[in-house]
Amino acid sequence: MYYIVDLQRDQSKLSRYISNTLLEKIQNTLENKKKTLVYINRRWEYNLLCCLDCGHLYKCKNCDITMSVHKNPEKLVCHMCWYTKDLDLRCEKCSWSNLQKVWVGTEQVEKLLKSHFKEAKIFRLDTDSIKTKVQKESVLQNILESDIIIGTKMITTGFDFADIALIAVILLEQEIGIPKYNIEEISYNNIKQLIGRWWRQWEDKEVVIQTFISSNDTIKSISEYNYKDFVTKTLEERKLFSYPPYKDFAVLESYDKNEAKSLEFCKILKNKLDYANEDKKIEITLGQKWFKKAWNYHHKIILKWENLRGFLEVIRYEVIKNPKLSLTFE
Ligand SMILES: [Zn+2]
Ligand SMILES: [Zn+2]
Repeated sequence: MYYIVDLQRDQSKLSRYISNTLLEKIQNTLENKKKTLVYINRRWEYNLLCCLDCGHLYKCKNCDITMSVHKNPEKLVCHMCWYTKDLDLRCEKCSWSNLQKVWVGTEQVEKLLKSHFKEAKIFRLDTDSIKTKVQKESVLQNILESDIIIGTKMITTGFDFADIALIAVILLEQEIGIPKYNIEEISYNNIKQLIGRWWRQWEDKEVVIQTFISSNDTIKSISEYNYKDFVTKTLEERKLFSYPPYKDFAVLESYDKNEAKSLEFCKILKNKLDYANEDKKIEITLGQKWFKKAWNYHHKIILKWENLRGFLEVIRYEVIKNPKLSLTFE
């Protein structure tokens, strides 16, 4: 059985991120001596902003990438172009004032489930856990001995879980809230991979997908497994925002401890690109500065057009010789 749970209507006393439906299903699974797999794909500690009325998820107006809520001062930030925006009081799409910040991490869910299912053996697996073969073996041992396994994307591949009777996706919007242009496609595949292997042997398996915004189109098509709607919508958006397969997409990012130096370097690079770009068809955007944890200032240039690879030849030498400059090509 397959359950799409709207967390607006079904919230347990334990947490707004855990529904009564899910608690019941886990309880039943424990009683049947089977395992539960709890999936959360996002480890960044940034909230997403979504409208509980219309299902709108705040996205960057330049990049169509989900924005994150940053603190002090509180604002929405696009992690692609670094466009920032104050938090709205009313939804930009439907004008109702039912905006909600959501984010939950694996550790938080582990703590909640441990406090509720005191007897159960709960194991949390995320990307920090496995670096060597020995670690992988100990992880497998832990999985074997656990009743509830909580994990990030890594649990969708490389592990064969016997005895799993219940799969839960804690917050599907977190999956599509990762700041990448193709995150919808990645999410669709992750969910498919997570659930797909049980698809054929369906009868006694259960899937619970939780979300606050079940009316959101992308959430709907992913959770309902509607590939046709999903592809149509995704391609429309890619076309509108000039992403592959319609356009090439590349990001040049420079960093330096000295802010002026990093900016200056990006400006020189942008001038070179503008000069080579005689017909002015390529969109070149110089990103805002962003102060990162490693105490470096970052600047970036976002490029979109056909055959960018050929065009980028003019700055190939700069990219090779400068270790503080990275090129990501999609
Ligand atoms: Zn953006
Ligand atoms: Zn709305």
